[in-house]
Amino acid sequence: MSLANDIGKRGFQRWYERQLIESHVYLVTCVLGILAFLACVEALDFRHGLLRAIPMLFSAFVSGAIAWFSLMRYSSLMVRAWRLAAAATCASCKTYGRLRVVGGSRQTAPGYDASGAVGPGDPEADWVRVQCKRCGNEWTL
Ligand SMILES: [Zn+2]
Repeated sequence: MSLANDIGKRGFQRWYERQLIESHVYLVTCVLGILAFLACVEALDFRHGLLRAIPMLFSAFVSGAIAWFSLMRYSSLMVRAWRLAAAATCASCKTYGRLRVVGGSRQTAPGYDASGAVGPGDPEADWVRVQCKRCGNEWTL
């Protein structure tokens, strides 16, 4: 689901709340992955040969990979949520987060442009064209 569809379906404030919850689930997963990694490293024992240590080395690698992936996912979700939240205030009436999605990049839902149109700034970044529900002012997140 594209960003514009996601915000349009839930509304900005619910979308933002879900982003914070999801990103913090990744943060908790990261902490658990670090703890599992440290436990595996602590349990490593090379006295009985390298072959016996391979399962624990593999477990440490998987735990570390999960921790790293979770940290990257946490930071990307938080940065995107903060970036959009900073731009979610209407410049005309100063209302925060009461938005109606009127367009966006990589739209797939009926009624939206499905061409994958390029938006302002980074062409790979998601962008959302929104309208204030209070005064009708339009801008791009
Ligand atoms: Zn407004």
